[in-house]
Amino acid sequence: MERLQHGVVIVGGGIAGCTLAILLAERGVAVTLVERQQRWQFHGSGIFVYSNGLAALEKVGVLPAILDSGFAIAGGRNIYLDHRGDAITDTFYPSVPGTQLPPILGIRRAELHRILLARLQALSVQVRLASTVLSVEDRPENLALQVELDNGERLQASVLVGADGVRSQMRARLFGAIEPHDTGFGVWRSIHRRPAQLVDKIMMMGVGKRLGIMPISQEQLYVYATTNEPGHPHYDPASLHLTMREKFAEFGGPARMFLDDLRDPSQAFYTVVEEVRLPLPWSRGRITLVGDAAHASTPFMGQGGAMAMEDSIVLADMLCRDTGDGVALTLAAFGRQRQPKCTFVQDVSRRVGEAGGLESADTCAARNVRMREQAQADVDHFYRSLHAFDMATA
Ligand SMILES: Cc1cc2nc3c(=O)[nH]c(=O)nc-3n(C[C@H](O)[C@H](O)[C@H](O)COP(=O)(O)OP(=O)(O)OC[C@H]3O[C@@H](n4cnc5c(N)ncnc54)[C@H](O)[C@@H]3O)c2cc1C
Repeated sequence: MERLQHGVVIVGGGIAGCTLAILLAERGVAVTLVERQQRWQFHGSGIFVYSNGLAALEKVGVLPAILDSGFAIAGGRNIYLDHRGDAITDTFYPSVPGTQLPPILGIRRAELHRILLARLQALSVQVRLASTVLSVEDRPENLALQVELDNGERLQASVLVGADGVRSQMRARLFGAIEPHDTGFGVWRSIHRRPAQLVDKIMMMGVGKRLGIMPISQEQLYVYATTNEPGHPHYDPASLHLTMREKFAEFGGPARMFLDDLRDPSQAFYTVVEEVRLPLPWSRGRITLVGDAAHASTPFMGQGGAMAMEDSIVLADMLCRDTGDGVALTLAAFGRQRQPKCTFVQDVSRRVGEAGGLESADTCAARNVRMREQAQADVDHFYRSLHAFDMATA
């Protein structure tokens, strides 16, 4: 591929960076993946992957390992309860039309990364750990970008991709300091043993908070809960488990046994939710951003990972299709294609988060009534819309 003859340098080995590296390496492009971690280490607990995310993982060639390691919810059933455990309604997530893919799967985040990493290694992708980009020269008169790493190494590249997440330094390099927006939500997470009978996704809607329960393997499940946290309060890491228990003290039903199971601070994770809404363009010259670096979303639709992988699929396809355009035009077209869908996901996710954060008991009761009538239609509309974006750009 002549226009990628100097290879592609990808900064950031998260979901977006790894998937892009795999897709390009499979097509014979020389890829160097630059990751700032000293060694591969994946934090966090579980992750939901909906059907469109599983379709992306299939394109990356890792679906069988993902299905083997994670927990797919048969029929895509999501049980909505109130915070006491009383039923609100059930909804069912769809599969991508025309596929047999599960509607939703839960998996340990570390497992997802381990599987992507194994694929990278099988393709012998060049990786530079404990490294980042120090400087980049993108002079039109030069055939290749000149990329200098902080370990002193100098690389040439036809394209440089910033896949370095919500606090992207590549974004700052291209567009100046655009800080992520603090959404005022906090997320609490923990992992527990899965009782054999717990095979559905459960979402419990409280007053000003919500708590989800999701199987992530045959042995384990993941508790995922959100609260309104305006002003960014600091929580003592040494008592995070106790704080999580207190925050959801009024929750009963299936949540109770997992909240009671929180006995050690290492079991609980807390994250402030940030958003990035980078206006177009996402690229400058032969450098572009992908994934959270361009469009980090609130996590209420569980779509951030899928959007990051879809970015990589679209970008790899566009770069490897020789249209006769220069790389800079292709990168600009990539951003224009992806931005509407990513913004749609961000908008819906934000609205869902706000509905889950309502703080008066009366409005919550009215919301729960509305959910009985409307929740399935909302789910169907969301996934039909995602599919329509794909059809419009196919
Ligand atoms: C609480 C929470 C729950 C979520 N739940 C879900 C979910 O259930 N399902 C879902 O699909 N999505 C979920 N998401 C979103 C999802 O995690 C992200 O959208 C996804 O990880 C984005 O992938 P990425 O590769 O763009 O960024 P990241 O996964 O953040 O990867 C960025 C990588 O870049 C590296 N890096 C950073 N800076 C540099 C640098 N300067 N130089 C070199 N390397 C660098 C980092 O070490 C990291 O490896 C959730 C997010 C949050 C916050």
